[in-house]
Amino acid sequence: MPSPDPSPPGSSTPSLRHSVTPSLSPHPSPSYVSSIPYESTRIHAAAIYCSDGRLGEHFDDLLQQGLGLPRYDRVTLPGGPACLAGHPQATLEEKGVIDELQFLVEVHKLKRVVLLAHQGCAFYSTRIGLKEPRLELVQRADLVRAAAYVHQVTNLTNIEAYFARHVEGKVQFERVEV
Ligand SMILES: [Zn+2]
Repeated sequence: MPSPDPSPPGSSTPSLRHSVTPSLSPHPSPSYVSSIPYESTRIHAAAIYCSDGRLGEHFDDLLQQGLGLPRYDRVTLPGGPACLAGHPQATLEEKGVIDELQFLVEVHKLKRVVLLAHQGCAFYSTRIGLKEPRLELVQRADLVRAAAYVHQVTNLTNIEAYFARHVEGKVQFERVEV
């Protein structure tokens, strides 16, 4: 079996002797141009949700269409708001998310936070070791705990939560009182 070439095709590793400062062209040729216009106004809202890519477009749909929050700030990680509910399995994530939220409040002038949990979240089954039906009960209780914690560390009062359920090939969002 041939040994793999360490350099990808077309690349070359300059030696130190021959290294040159790359030219800083103001408009390098693009690899791709998005057709979506750039809008610089902030919406002052953020959502915290699971990084599970099977639901990313559904979360966007709820937030952008259902709640009218285009360009909301995204805070995503496995389990989403689960890391703000006091589980010892997520203390590192908790610190990171709190730091990020405080940054968004200070710099992006965040006023509203939406917390999302979803049915069958692998963070709960794998990291915390829960099975249904207890898994969903813990997720819902965690949304309440996470909302209280977000309020405590940011002083924000406009915090809401939803649970995403799979129903007949679609995703429905149920409001959870927090
Ligand atoms: Zn998940």
